[in-house]
Amino acid sequence: PRWVYLFGADRTDGDAGMKTLLGGKGANLAEMANLGLPVPPGFTISTDVCTAYYEAGRKLPESLTPQVDEALETIGRIVGAKFGDTDNPLLVSVRSGARASMPGMMDTILNLGLNDETVEGLVRRSGDRRFAYDSYRRFIQMYADIVLGVDHGVFEDILETFKNLNSMQLDTELTADDWLEIIESYKAAIADAIDRPFPQDTGEQLWGAISAVFGSWQNARAKTYRFLHGIPDDWGTAVNVQAMVFGNMGETSATGVAFTRNPSTGVKEIFGEFLVNAQGEDVVAGIRTPQHLTEAARIEAGSNQPSLEALTPGMFAELVAVFDKLETRYRDMQDIEFTIQDGKLWMLQTRSGKRTLEAALRIAVEMAEEGLISREEAVMRVNAADLDQLLHPTIDPDSEKNVLTNGLPASPGAAVGEIVFHAEDAEAAKAKGIDVILVRVETSPEDIHGMHAAAGILTARGGMTSHAAVVARGMGRPCVSGASALQIDARARTLKIGSTLLKEGDVITIDGSTGQVLHGRVKMRQPEMSGNFGTLMSWADEFRRLGVRANADTPRDAEQSRIFGADGIGLCRTEHMFFEADRILAMREMICAEDEEGRRAALDRILPMQRGDFEQLFETMAGLPITIRLLDPPLHEFLPHEGSELTSVAEALDISVEKLRARVRELSEFNPMLGFRGCRIAIRYPEITEMQARAVFEAAIAAGKKTGAPVKPEIMIPLVIYRREFDILADVIRGIAREVEAEHGVSLDYEIGTMVELPRCALKADEIAAGEEGAAFFSFGTNDLTQTCLGLSRDDGGPILQTYTSAGILEMDPFVSIDVSGVGELVQIGTERGRRVKPDLKIGICGEHAGDEASIRFFHEAGLDYVSCSPYRLPVARLAAAQAAL
Ligand code: ADP
Ligand code: MG
Ligand code: MG
Repeated sequence: PRWVYLFGADRTDGDAGMKTLLGGKGANLAEMANLGLPVPPGFTISTDVCTAYYEAGRKLPESLTPQVDEALETIGRIVGAKFGDTDNPLLVSVRSGARASMPGMMDTILNLGLNDETVEGLVRRSGDRRFAYDSYRRFIQMYADIVLGVDHGVFEDILETFKNLNSMQLDTELTADDWLEIIESYKAAIADAIDRPFPQDTGEQLWGAISAVFGSWQNARAKTYRFLHGIPDDWGTAVNVQAMVFGNMGETSATGVAFTRNPSTGVKEIFGEFLVNAQGEDVVAGIRTPQHLTEAARIEAGSNQPSLEALTPGMFAELVAVFDKLETRYRDMQDIEFTIQDGKLWMLQTRSGKRTLEAALRIAVEMAEEGLISREEAVMRVNAADLDQLLHPTIDPDSEKNVLTNGLPASPGAAVGEIVFHAEDAEAAKAKGIDVILVRVETSPEDIHGMHAAAGILTARGGMTSHAAVVARGMGRPCVSGASALQIDARARTLKIGSTLLKEGDVITIDGSTGQVLHGRVKMRQPEMSGNFGTLMSWADEFRRLGVRANADTPRDAEQSRIFGADGIGLCRTEHMFFEADRILAMREMICAEDEEGRRAALDRILPMQRGDFEQLFETMAGLPITIRLLDPPLHEFLPHEGSELTSVAEALDISVEKLRARVRELSEFNPMLGFRGCRIAIRYPEITEMQARAVFEAAIAAGKKTGAPVKPEIMIPLVIYRREFDILADVIRGIAREVEAEHGVSLDYEIGTMVELPRCALKADEIAAGEEGAAFFSFGTNDLTQTCLGLSRDDGGPILQTYTSAGILEMDPFVSIDVSGVGELVQIGTERGRRVKPDLKIGICGEHAGDEASIRFFHEAGLDYVSCSPYRLPVARLAAAQAAL
């Protein structure tokens, strides 16, 4: 079989399309040679050899030897040298190169082929002793470290000691004889460490290096890296053997790295550095301060070392032409390595460069505008999940940081504020214009108003899907959860972290993107909606089929969702409207009322508040569709539980504490998530639905008049499993609609649909949607659907998920990324059965999954009409939806 592929020789066997066989580095070296660029000749030993090597129990195939020998001869002929020749030695580099760039693999060995005799040949040929010995000592050091396993610290110590003894600072101060002395010390140290001398046989050196590259594919570091990045074990690596060129041949030689555009800003400018008289990775190793490639960059950095542009304009122009050629060929920003040997340019590597999000956006948009790529490609080039970074304030990376402890990065963004321990205090502070961080052991629905008022939330307990985390993400509040080192004494209003004692009012900073809790006020960067971001999002909107709506409960959320480009509101949870201080009392009154009459009296007080909320919401959304969900949580969530609060609430309600306590006891459930909630409450107390429907309709009429844009509310009934439930409540809503129509002399346009959040609902979707009177739309509530399909509590499931992840049962948190094969099948069944009876049934999804890339791909494929996510996930969802469609 063929194992070896030439490049830059009389012929080049590979090209950029052959990454699987040749690895990324090898394929791109071949491509550069094909483009006619100056590439030192070499050959790639293919990834097939890696596979064969492991199949044979770490043995290289015998037929590889003649192929390598022949290729070496060819290269030698071209550069006019011979491998192992004492008079005119060919030197090579041995470079690993997997399909995907993979740190953790064997490093590159340079100057291979040098020994005590060939180095003298190099001395004679180059006429430069210092250069020859410098090259040799570099080789010994790299080879010993990488192939022989001698710790590189040994060599650093020898060199340091030598420099200290001779009062030297820089490597460049060492003379040829100095290096010769160092070489002897290196060799002695190696013989000492491995009990045999440094290999003088150049063939042994080469095969040792090749085997070491293949062997490094299975070293612990490489395996871990593959595991973390999902790179399959059976890909294997290739090995590149390439004639050396020397950047360390004196003042007319240099080595450098460059990006064809600025990788941190994306600006179309050459961004790079070089070092005169240096080799390989000296530039990145920080041995000396490198010089800038362009004059502009030199001036900006205020450096007094000349740029390449000023130093050798001809060479610079040649380099620029090469960069242009590479960008045009690869149609992407390139990360390039080059070397100048005695005034001649050599290209050593090119690949698509890593970049910041800001740069990714700018490069994608500008390349599309330049006509280099299509808009579709531009949309595909940006990682949707990364957009999250743009939508929240972040900690200024240059600021000083004093990390107190770490928790989970539960909701991205950073926040600074004074510590408060109670939701009420957060609200009070907010009213005074003070930013606060709400610090709780954990949060509950009663804390929502405080969470809303806080700049950030910090909890000692709870995972990534805890109440605090989910609500915070929904609100776009930064949150660090599960910071177990926090010792909170809410009564004393103190917080202890290790030996640090903090009081209410002390300032802390939290970083919800990393989970860090920091002392004091750390500098922030505000999110920017830059022009390129907006442009790319508008292109994404052209390509996506899936609608993207927002989960928005308040006019503020609605405004935010319009800024982030929502097509409408897919979920307005009405209960959140009741947690504000002045409203919860009316709600509690309703819950504690003796009879229907009492309930109605309380509901009458709630009606105008609710109507007002809806009116604002409708106005903000100006005619865009809005789905409003009827009251969902169990009633006890609205009642106080702690003793002190019971007293004050009883007083406010003008009932006895005993009576209130009795009501709390009566409503408390062992398993509230499967309890008296959703439409079950409304079936029991239809007057609640009457009030909510009236509020919706009256608000729709008022807002429609004000804005001139007719409002078509979509009323959604939660937790339905039987058609009969749906019918009972739909009748109530229609009855109210008729009343309102009569009162106002108008005709209302509205739809009644259901949330699909229990398996039975998905299974009976056809029954529930059938006929004129059946559900007009579905919205999959995938949080509850996951919880009930898996029988796994979202609130208590953390430890189980952890166990299952480490046992290899689960790969992903099913509350974050949808369980495609299980819960996903319920979504498919519900969609298919619903549309069987009602082909135009509108179907959306409104769980946490609506903001997750992988889940969005699934929802697109399942044929849903829209996803509805938190306002702060909208740009991510818009881009992911476009990428799913392309
Ligand atoms: P990495 O993947 O870590 O970048 P490389 O194989 O690219 O490793 O090599 C490391 C350094 O050695 C780079 O600076 C590269 O340009 C340089 N290098 C590799 N091969 C040669 C060669 N044949 N001649 C001169 N320099 C080389
Ligand atoms: Mg490297
Ligand atoms: Mg490289």
